[in-house]
Amino acid sequence: MYGKIRIEQVKQLKPMPKADEKLGFGRYFTDHMLLMDYEEGKGWFDPRIVPYAPLTLDPAAMVFHYGQAVFEGLKAFQSEEGEVRIFRPDQNAKRLNHSNERLQMPFIDEDFFVASIQTLVHVDAKWVPQQPGSSLYIRPFIVATEAGLGVRSSARYLFVVILTPVDSYYEEGLQPIHILVESHYARAAQGGIGDAKTGGNYAASMKAQALAKQKNCAQVLWLDASEKKFLEEVGSMNVFFYIGGEVITPSLSGSILAGVTRNSIIQLLKDWKIPVIERKISIAEIVQAYEDGTLQEAFGTGTAAVVSPIGSLHWNEKQMVVHQGGIGELTQRLYNAITGIQRGTVVDSHGWMASR
Ligand SMILES: *Cc1c(COP(=O)(O)O)cnc(C)c1O
Repeated sequence: MYGKIRIEQVKQLKPMPKADEKLGFGRYFTDHMLLMDYEEGKGWFDPRIVPYAPLTLDPAAMVFHYGQAVFEGLKAFQSEEGEVRIFRPDQNAKRLNHSNERLQMPFIDEDFFVASIQTLVHVDAKWVPQQPGSSLYIRPFIVATEAGLGVRSSARYLFVVILTPVDSYYEEGLQPIHILVESHYARAAQGGIGDAKTGGNYAASMKAQALAKQKNCAQVLWLDASEKKFLEEVGSMNVFFYIGGEVITPSLSGSILAGVTRNSIIQLLKDWKIPVIERKISIAEIVQAYEDGTLQEAFGTGTAAVVSPIGSLHWNEKQMVVHQGGIGELTQRLYNAITGIQRGTVVDSHGWMASR
């Protein structure tokens, strides 16, 4: 498939971050990266692992002008036995192709995607951090590289994978966040690209995010673009509410990104026989549950933080404090289960951890 992956070892290894150094998120990058080219008529070719370095692209490369770009985000972990394992990479492969289809970009063979990432992670395996909670974050992406300003789908692309060691998102245990319910701006609309993992959705979110920060809120809770009634996502995480003994998450409406963490949380809840439903859920319903006292817990989910407890929701003049601003038991239990499976301290009954 696409030819054998060529490996060009770096001549001068980078200094590694020290054991006590804060890794941050995307502050350090490993010694190598993976590249592969695509040309219309030829397909994908020349997969190669090369020293990490800047890319050279024509200023007219279409990605700079019309934004044909998709990405993924997943993590590799060191188990206590020293084995390096990746959390559900097959799911990211599928989602990448879903994004590719939406932006009219070329498919990548899903087995190749997983194998190429495993090869790169293996080459840079010494960069997988050891401290509990830390991981090697994997960022695959594809950009349109054909030079030209005519508006159409590019005939050339570059597939890139880079790796960055990251700390646990929460260094001192889970921290509840304040959320601003956004009733003016929208991240994504019905029929748009909200269910594709693409930078354009992030660009669309920056302004509301900045306004939320001014109001001391960490993230925005997005409502549907047309009626501003129904919940979509929280920042760049999927969102869950625990109301009256039942967990509810917005159904994948077309404008919501289908998170791998979201899918894993739903599976765990089913395993635990806790009722979980995917359906439309309105902000009015959340206000009602808050007033009735049935709103027990709320949290966001995504690869970076795994689970983020929501401490309060701010909607117009209304302030709703969830779980007294603390961490709910179910939120904590889900966080412990997923991070335990990733570390290898909890039984991986669904075969989520892929090793080479
Ligand atoms: C990546 C992403 C998520 C979370 O997906 P995971 O696969 O769980 O990391 C949620 N929403 C948006 C908009 C995203 O880009």
